[in-house]
Amino acid sequence: MSIAENVARVRAEIEAAAIAAGRDPKEIQLCAATKMNDAEAVRQAIAAGVDCCGENRVQELTAKLAQNAYAGAPVHFIGHLQTNKVRQVVGKVALIQSVDSEHLLRAINREAARQGILQDVLLEVNIGEEASKSGFRADDILPMMEKMGEFSNICVKGLMAIPPISHNSGENLKFFQKMFQLSVDIKRKKYDNVKVDCLSMGMSGDFADAIASGSTMVRVGTAIFGARNYARDSSEK
Ligand SMILES: *Cc1c(COP(=O)(O)O)cnc(C)c1O
Repeated sequence: MSIAENVARVRAEIEAAAIAAGRDPKEIQLCAATKMNDAEAVRQAIAAGVDCCGENRVQELTAKLAQNAYAGAPVHFIGHLQTNKVRQVVGKVALIQSVDSEHLLRAINREAARQGILQDVLLEVNIGEEASKSGFRADDILPMMEKMGEFSNICVKGLMAIPPISHNSGENLKFFQKMFQLSVDIKRKKYDNVKVDCLSMGMSGDFADAIASGSTMVRVGTAIFGARNYARDSSEK
């Protein structure tokens, strides 16, 4: 199937999941997870109407920006970001979805201040408390929000999570529901430099469950572009 057909199918599935949950399908944005796909594939996904693209690695982001691959759609950063690479990302992407530490927040804020801009971010939550994943602990999110006033060049637009890999539908519902509750808890309060409207969760295998649990952005790679060829890429961690 072509990328355009895949995007249409994913859209239809998003719409069905939203309606089944009594939600307006327009509340849910489709972010194409473009890692390991070239500029031409990215252009096809944008032409097919994805809302934004999500890039995982700084090197790929930089290369595809140089090729003007994202013309027509905002690009987000969704991978682990090292503090020594913030200059290549801050101001280059509409949203950094994967802010996983206070240390990184400080580095982003410093760079955004240097550029004189406001950088939108999501805080990544390690909702499954997995040793292999980065992200804030769920318990640390509200205390971090209290401190956001210190970061005057950042606006926190919401939360992102990658729950444990699940093999059965419904397995991740408890994690998605915890994330939704956390975003509700944040929205109830008033914090400086925080304006939560995005809950980014759900990937190819579980976006319907994420939508049932209140996701407003799904990040979909495989279901749009097909399986990634990791063998081709020796630098993958
Ligand atoms: C690759 C990736 C996705 C998409 O995963 P698929 O299972 O291919 O849909 C979503 N989010 C992040 C952060 C990713 O790295």
